Amino acid sequence: LGTRVDAVDMAGALARIKALIQKRRFAQVVTFGSEMAMLARRDPAYQSLINRADLVVPDTIGVVCAARMLGCRMRERVPGVELVERLGAACASERIPIFLLGGEPGIAQQAAVALVQRHPGLIVAGTQHGYFAEADSDAVAKRIRDSGARLALVALGFPKQEFWVSHHAAALGELVCIGVGGTFDVISGKLVRAPRLVRSLGLEWLYRLAREPRRLRRQLVLPEFALRVAGQALRERSNRTASAQDNAGAASNGSRQ
Ligand code: UDP
Repeated sequence: LGTRVDAVDMAGALARIKALIQKRRFAQVVTFGSEMAMLARRDPAYQSLINRADLVVPDTIGVVCAARMLGCRMRERVPGVELVERLGAACASERIPIFLLGGEPGIAQQAAVALVQRHPGLIVAGTQHGYFAEADSDAVAKRIRDSGARLALVALGFPKQEFWVSHHAAALGELVCIGVGGTFDVISGKLVRAPRLVRSLGLEWLYRLAREPRRLRRQLVLPEFALRVAGQALRERSNRTASAQDNAGAASNGSRQ
């Protein structure tokens, strides 16, 4: 549908993010979902921002299924919550300071406490809630830069978090920023994740919908996403068949000459 996604699994995503952190320059990582794909289709600025990102990981089952239907070998989802936990462990063992930005007042702090409890040694360079005034954006970006963090988890929801990181790239300095949506709500314990069985069936989205019915409006784009992907898969298949027939025709003409 016009947006690039990297075919990485969890291990691959972690390796790529660690490599970006080692480079000591600004980098933007996107955790990409099906609803974002539909928004990106309608908003060229959002689409080009995602296509320019240093890494785009498949956050939802819809993105993984879409990629597979389009012939790409994508092994698994890289869910934001699990990515944050794994990064917490990696940053703790490598003494890489992190910053948590986003969520309602107190939530980033609670998420930081939970992460430090689970990953002893993790250095949290700072936290900041996500409901600051637009006029304070530059100051927030500078605070993150001056904190010494080398990884910033930015949980402002999409598309705000991607635009915010991109607009403040210069002020943020040499660190890796990852948009992580509602993950602090889960890590802090404010929201409970779907049971493992539900997740393994690829139904986490349905569980979240049942818990937070306000998500229905957003998820109304998902049937259209599925139809568009199916349409694209059919078109690509028929193009492949047509070009295979052309090649076969050209080969038989060639052998006759
Ligand atoms: N949020 C924020 N500032 C805002 C808007 C949203 O910090 O101006 C936070 C909100 O508190 C929530 C997260 O962004 O923690 C968005 O969560 P949601 O589940 O909607 O995001 P998704 O994971 O679907 O991108």
